[in-house]
Amino acid sequence: MWLDLPALLIGKVPRQVVVQITDRCNARCPQCTMRAGVSRERSTMPIDTTLSVIDHAARSGVRAISFTGGEPLLDVRQLTRYVRFAKESGIRYTRTGTNGFMFAGPDSRHAAAAAGRLADSLLTAGLRNFWIGLDSADPATHEQMRGLPGVVAGIERALPVFHEAGMYPAANLGLTRALGGPLLPRREDGPEVFARKAREALRRFFARAVDMGFTIANVCYPMSVEAKRDGLTAVYGAPSGSSLVHFSRPEKRALFAALRDVIPEFRAQIRIFTPLSSVDGLVAEYSSSLPRPSGYACRGGVDFVFVDTRGHAFPCGYRGDEDLGPFATLDFARLEREPHCRLCDWECFRDPSELMGPVAGAAALSVTVAKSLRGGDRRLDLWRGDVRYSLAAGLFDGRRAPDMGRLRAASAPPARETAAAPTSSAQAAPVRPLPASTATTPALVEARLRLANPGEEMDSAVCEALDRRPRGAA
Ligand code: SF4
Ligand code: SF4
Repeated sequence: MWLDLPALLIGKVPRQVVVQITDRCNARCPQCTMRAGVSRERSTMPIDTTLSVIDHAARSGVRAISFTGGEPLLDVRQLTRYVRFAKESGIRYTRTGTNGFMFAGPDSRHAAAAAGRLADSLLTAGLRNFWIGLDSADPATHEQMRGLPGVVAGIERALPVFHEAGMYPAANLGLTRALGGPLLPRREDGPEVFARKAREALRRFFARAVDMGFTIANVCYPMSVEAKRDGLTAVYGAPSGSSLVHFSRPEKRALFAALRDVIPEFRAQIRIFTPLSSVDGLVAEYSSSLPRPSGYACRGGVDFVFVDTRGHAFPCGYRGDEDLGPFATLDFARLEREPHCRLCDWECFRDPSELMGPVAGAAALSVTVAKSLRGGDRRLDLWRGDVRYSLAAGLFDGRRAPDMGRLRAASAPPARETAAAPTSSAQAAPVRPLPASTATTPALVEARLRLANPGEEMDSAVCEALDRRPRGAA
């Protein structure tokens, strides 16, 4: 949940590493093979290995590091040390999260105290983003799936304490058939029924997240073992054969279309990281009979890397046959130069790849690159809207309170986008195209960024740069 716009706008593709510090977990999510009770070999990354991974990441210019699990907070003191070390080593974006087990239990009063201690230690360590899993709009469904009774009430008690301390956790939605409570219908109920129910379920989910007090949300796309069909082998144990996360191609198309429709309705109420341009690309991918024809290729194995609990690097969590060896000796310069993979929907890598797509590469912001924006003008409008929204959302900084006025202003889609996505209830904000002769150059943007102070002034410079670009350019 990060967008390194300053780096992108001067033509640098920021590197990202997802580090699996453990595959142990104390929750029982049926859609995950790392759940407690599953008989499998478990491991936790040794401390020395983790420190070497962080150190090497920092030396290699990695900008974002995510500590994932299993349950990352099983050893919160050690995790806090890792976050601090990453921050002190110069890694700008650090994130981790939890299934919320420490907030669960029959009496949620202890949750506030637990949140206070946790927020203090993570903030002091320098953590930027913290997620809490929330898989259903219906508390009973979520708690039953996780095997964590009382966790929803506990999270509701914990969130104000986090906010008071200066931390704004994100609701992390793993898309399953249970996202709205009652299971989404199966294919035999017909595509229209599925699409309608999916929209209703998503509306219930985002409304619940807002009611609970979340100010940021992120959507994890369904990952099932059907990925194996595409020649993938998961080294990351998140997918499973559960029917909860198995969707047919038409169902995925309807599910992603529902996301594209519903997200704009809630963008003014809660900072939703999920980019509409990315979701739109997935709709196009699942609308075609050709495999994976649309969207920008994933930067997994190019700029993004997954590290397993042994400290070995892989292009991502799903290309497990491509062991790149110990991460501590990985030479990023020897990785693939051009992204090409579209074999799965892992949002951790697909969403930032899509957001970076139009400007990634040596010719950042050049009209030539911009004109190659896949998906045409409508995708361009969505992408511009995503960038504008990301700025208004404070680049999803989990240590900043939302600016609701800016969110409202940035949530209004341009007129052409409204025509393409008619279910949005937001008001249209005009796009101000200028002639091609006024196109902003990378050098000009760089100069602006250097001159501008951090915060709103820099954001304004970026917005202005985007506005000055000709229509048909991204
Ligand atoms: S989805 Fe997360 S919380 Fe649930 S079992 Fe898997 S690792 Fe644990
Ligand atoms: S699309 Fe990305 S995350 Fe998925 S298999 Fe390819 S490189 Fe890995």
